[in-house]
Amino acid sequence: MARDPRYDILFQPLKIGPVTAKNRFYQVPHCNGGGYRDPSAAAAMRGIKSEGGWGVIFTEQCEMHHTSEITPFIELRLWEDADIPGLAKMAAAMKRHGALAGIQLAYSGVNGPNLYTREVPRAPTALPIRTFTNDPIQARAMDREDIRDLRRWHRNAFRRAKQAGFDLVCLYGAHGFGIIQHFLSRATNQRSDEYGGSLENRARLMRELIAEARDAVGDSCGITLRLSLDEIVGDLGFSNAELRDLIAMHADLPDLWDLAHGAWEDCSGPSRFKEEAAQEDLVAGIKQLTQKPVVGVGRFTSPDVMVRQIKQGTLDFIGCARPSIADPFLPRKVEEGRIEDIRECIGCNICITGDMTMSISRCTQNPTFMEEWRKGWHPEKIQGKGDSDSVLVVGAGPAGLEAALALGRRGYRVALAESGTELGGRVARECKLPGLSAWGRVRDYRAFQLGKLANVEIYFDSHLAAEDILGFGFQHVAIATGADWRRDGVARAHVVPMPIDAAIPLFTPDDIMAGRLPDGGRVVLFDDDHYYMGGVTAELLAGKGMKVTLVTSSAFVSDWSRNTLEQGAIHRRLAAAGIEIVLNRVVTRIGADHVETACAYTGNAAPMAADAVVLVTARIGRDALWHDLVARRGDWAEAGIRSVKRIGDAEAPGPIAWATYAGHRYARELDEPDIGDAMPFRREVTALAAD
Ligand code: ADP
Ligand code: SF4
Repeated sequence: MARDPRYDILFQPLKIGPVTAKNRFYQVPHCNGGGYRDPSAAAAMRGIKSEGGWGVIFTEQCEMHHTSEITPFIELRLWEDADIPGLAKMAAAMKRHGALAGIQLAYSGVNGPNLYTREVPRAPTALPIRTFTNDPIQARAMDREDIRDLRRWHRNAFRRAKQAGFDLVCLYGAHGFGIIQHFLSRATNQRSDEYGGSLENRARLMRELIAEARDAVGDSCGITLRLSLDEIVGDLGFSNAELRDLIAMHADLPDLWDLAHGAWEDCSGPSRFKEEAAQEDLVAGIKQLTQKPVVGVGRFTSPDVMVRQIKQGTLDFIGCARPSIADPFLPRKVEEGRIEDIRECIGCNICITGDMTMSISRCTQNPTFMEEWRKGWHPEKIQGKGDSDSVLVVGAGPAGLEAALALGRRGYRVALAESGTELGGRVARECKLPGLSAWGRVRDYRAFQLGKLANVEIYFDSHLAAEDILGFGFQHVAIATGADWRRDGVARAHVVPMPIDAAIPLFTPDDIMAGRLPDGGRVVLFDDDHYYMGGVTAELLAGKGMKVTLVTSSAFVSDWSRNTLEQGAIHRRLAAAGIEIVLNRVVTRIGADHVETACAYTGNAAPMAADAVVLVTARIGRDALWHDLVARRGDWAEAGIRSVKRIGDAEAPGPIAWATYAGHRYARELDEPDIGDAMPFRREVTALAAD
C-alpha cells in the first residue's frame, strides 16, 4: 500500500550540518543493557532499526574517556583505538539501509563514580557523585589544566568517532548524566572563575567543546547537543527559562538541538505517569529561537501526533527511543500505509530494567529486542513451519496470544482456546487498574494481527480439561493458562503459609481486579511482591475512599519499580492519595480484626487494626491442566499429540514481558532441531590477551 499523503511531511529529508537525514524519524540514544559487553547484539539491534526505516539512529551513551565512567551500568566505551572496531560495526549496521549513524559522547563528571578505572572523578565543583546508588565517592573540582585535558580528550574522541564511521556526534548534557549539564547548572557548578556564575560563563565549556568538535570533524559530521529541558532539582537547577536563554544566546551553535526532559525519570516516565507528547509545553517555542533543527521526545507512537509536532512548529525531528524498541519498523509501516500494524509501546519501562539491572534489555511488546543477533530473531520475519501442522494454544493471555500469533505467521494451523469471553488474560484485567490503560495494547496489537490470519481460530468460553485436549487431535499443545495470586501469604517473608484467621475479609489482586472489594474501613495491604501491583492496588482502594495502610518488608514502596524509573512517582502518588506507607515491616500473622507486624530488622512486634487485608505476595502457576496431561502421557500417541509444554505465567509467574517472550520462544522453537546441552543463544566472550 502507498503512504497516506498526510504523513508525507515525516518523510521530508533535512540537513544536520554537513549531512542529510532521509526523513524525520530520529532514534534518540537509548541504553539496552548490552553495551560494551555485547557489541554484536547491540549493533544488530541498531541495524534492524535501519532496515525499519529510521532516518537517524544513535548509539546509547558512550563513555568518551576513561577518567569518567559509570560502572556498574553497561554502556559503550570509546577510551582508546581498541574500542573503534566494535563501534565501527555498530555504525556500519546503522547505515546499511540509509540512516545517519550517530554517537552520543558522554563525559559523566559528577555522575561517574569510576568504580572500574579507579580514577578520581572530576566535576565543575567538588561534590559527592550523584548516581542511583549513592556511591560514597566524591569528585574533585576541575582546574584550568583539567579543562584543557577535557578539550583534548574530546578532540580525540571526535576523531575516533569519525574513524568508526559515525555521521553525527552528540555531546551529552541532559538527564543529569553529562558534564555540559553539570557546568550549566548552578546546582552542580558553584565556581567563581570564568566557567561559573553567569549563564554566559556556565556555557563556556559547552562552547569550547563544540568548537573542538567543529574543528576536528565539523567538515563531515553533524554536531548535535543534547540538553535537559528542565533539570528539576530545585531553584538552583538549570530551568526551562534558562535553557531558552541559552538557546537564544547560542542559536546556531550546534547543528541540531536535541532536547530531553530533566532527569531520566522525568524524560522516560512510564505511561502510568506520563502521556504521549508529555514534553510538548517544555519544548514549544524553542524552535523559534534557532535556525537549526530541533528534536524532542515524548513516547510518540501515533503518526498523527508526530505530524502535528512538525506542522505546528514544535519539532523538526520526531525523537523516539521506546517507540523504536517496541516497533523498530515504525517508519516503514507509516511509509507503506500500514499504520494499524504499528506495535505501540505500552510505556511499561521494562526495557529500562535491562540497563538498571545490568542484564540485557527486554521489551514487553517486542520479544525479539536484543535477540536479533543472539538468537537471529527478526521482528518482522519468522521462519516457515516445520514438519508438523497443528497447534492448540490454551489460554489467551500475553503468552498464549504471542504464541498463537507467531505460530500463525509460521503457517501452522492454530487453535487458541480461552476459558473466558475476552482476549488478553492478565493484561485485560490489569489495564483497568489506575494509570495502566496503555497496557491493553499488548492485547490490542495481537488481537488485530490474529484477525488477519486465516489459519488461526479463536474459541471463547472454552475451559479445557485434559480429556477435551486428548480428544481434539492437535499435534502440539501449549499450556498458557496463567497464574493466580496466592492467598496464603507465601512470597519472600513467608516461604510457608502464614497464620490467617478465617474470620478476616481477605483479598488478593485477583479479587480486586474482578471487582470484589473490601466493604471499606481500615484496609491493610501487605506488599511482599515489590513491583507495581501492591502500589497500584493501594491506589485503587484509596480512590474508592478506603483508609489504606501499605505495609512492606522493603525500605521502598514498590521497590523493584526503581528499575522502571517510577518508584519516586509511585511513592509521591500514594502519599498524595493519603495512603499510610509503612516500610521495613513484615505482616507476621493475620487475626480476625488486626494484623501482627514485625520490624524487618529487629523483629520488634506491633499490632495494627484492620477490617480487611489485601495480600500482594506471590503467584502460583495454573498448571493443573499441564499436570493432568503429563499424567496421561501414555495416551498422547493415540491422540496424535507429539508435545505438551507449559509457557508463560503457568510455568513460572513473572512480568508481562516474560510471558510474551515465552510465547514467542515457543513458536520460534517448535519443530526446530533439539540443541541438547548447547547454549540457546550466541554470546561474545572477551578475547584473552596474549600474555
Ligand atoms: P500469561 O501471562 O502466561 O499469558 P494470563 O494469566 O494472562 O497468563 O492468561 C492466561 C489465560 O488462560 C487467561 O485468560 C485464562 O482465562 C485462560 N485459561 C486458564 N485456564 C484455562 C483452561 N483450562 N482452558 C482455557 N483457558 C484457560
Ligand atoms: Fe515500551 Fe515497555 Fe517495550 Fe519499553 S518495554 S519499549 S516501555 S513496551
